[in-house]
Amino acid sequence: MEPLVVIYGSTGTGKSDLAVELATRFNGEIINADAMQMYEGLPIITNKLTSSEKRGIPHHLLGNIPLEDEPWSVTHFKREANRIVAEIRDRGKLPIVVGGTSYYLDGLLFDERLVEEHKDAAAGILPTRDELEAQYPILSGPAEAMLAKLREVDPAMANRWHPNDIRKIRNSLEIYFSTGRRASDIYAEQRVRKGAAQARSGSKRSNSWKTLLIWLYAKPEVLNERLETRVDKMVDKGLLDETAEVYTKLQSRLAAGEDVDRTKGIWQSIGLKQFEPYLRALEETPDDHSKLDALKQAGIEDTKTANRRYAKSQVRWITMKTLTSLQEEKVLDRLFLLDSSNIQLWKEEVLEKGVELTRQLLADEQLPQAVDLSETAREVLSSKVERSNRQEVACNQTCDLCKKTFLTEDLWQTHLKSKKHRKAVEWVKRTSLMVIDQAPGKEAAQEEPRVSQGEAQAAQGEQPQGIQEAESKPKPNEPL
Ligand SMILES: [Zn+2]
Repeated sequence: MEPLVVIYGSTGTGKSDLAVELATRFNGEIINADAMQMYEGLPIITNKLTSSEKRGIPHHLLGNIPLEDEPWSVTHFKREANRIVAEIRDRGKLPIVVGGTSYYLDGLLFDERLVEEHKDAAAGILPTRDELEAQYPILSGPAEAMLAKLREVDPAMANRWHPNDIRKIRNSLEIYFSTGRRASDIYAEQRVRKGAAQARSGSKRSNSWKTLLIWLYAKPEVLNERLETRVDKMVDKGLLDETAEVYTKLQSRLAAGEDVDRTKGIWQSIGLKQFEPYLRALEETPDDHSKLDALKQAGIEDTKTANRRYAKSQVRWITMKTLTSLQEEKVLDRLFLLDSSNIQLWKEEVLEKGVELTRQLLADEQLPQAVDLSETAREVLSSKVERSNRQEVACNQTCDLCKKTFLTEDLWQTHLKSKKHRKAVEWVKRTSLMVIDQAPGKEAAQEEPRVSQGEAQAAQGEQPQGIQEAESKPKPNEPL
């Protein structure tokens, strides 16, 4: 197996800089995986490194497509990136893939993954809950209306949920609105994919997979401030000139009667939409300086907001999609979160740790536990990592109340938290038929399993993995 380093992270975390640092130390070449940076020109809008910042390191797929082009599909990206990875290896060098379009990175890493080709995914953007609610007011309306809508668009999911389970009904609807696809179809595909992944070598993959995944992360408060400052700097460097350039191009194409999809490619770059009222006023009322100033200020504020929202959606993608895929493929232990919240600690927290991880990867040394790298890593990753470890731990636990046996620690823990089990516990408590423990004892483990693992899983089956935001936590006051 040949080594590969992949750097994930939202805008403003320093990914490109880290990639250059690693490339200079380990004889690397860089492949860009940021859909916007693939467009030629527009260095400020797309946040490209300057040539001095590149420090002579070859960068691929950077500024390689004309502004008019649609962004590459994930299939196209995967094909080209794989080809370049092979070429870099032929030169005896280390390929380092870096970018904010996690959609591309996921596509590159996960063979079996069915990556949805919907419009937002092309830019790696998942709408936030607030955005969805603004666009689809039904999501903040009464449960009956949501259920009626779900019956219309995805009857299979509607039948699955109890009419009072607003959380699940809304979740299914959100999936439909944000992806344009039925949750039931997505889950069906995930089941097929999961089956295929398990049929392959499974946990062995982690040992033979010489890939290091770095997630460069900054705490939201810090990152938001950093992004605001960056927009001000971009304006100083000439953001408005670049925006005007794209705007003029757009206008001339529209004037020529061309059909431009403004939700795709460079036309949806951050800044264009936000400065459009200003750019239009500049043409229409060039002498109204107070109006122009006001519109420009509004454009700056809106650009800051859009940047923050973009960063948030990027992190959401990683936590909801990438981590889940890594977990499914049993390679979550290859992901290391480096904390770039404090720029003063960049050297200790990001550079030195990133260099050490890469050295260990190349030397075939044992990699550390991701949660041990920093307090932030522990906070952000621990629930996912613990769950993943539990999945590996075999056990044989029988729940006497529910008459079910579970063969992995994860299934067992999930059962203990399940509504069904908690209801059973409550019922027994109330009727006082017998004295029971919240977690039935180990002695049950000696009994013959009464159901196979498959059946146990089927009993848990209403928990499709991969797209649900979080598992439902036991709520003490929930009505029975
Ligand atoms: Zn039970």
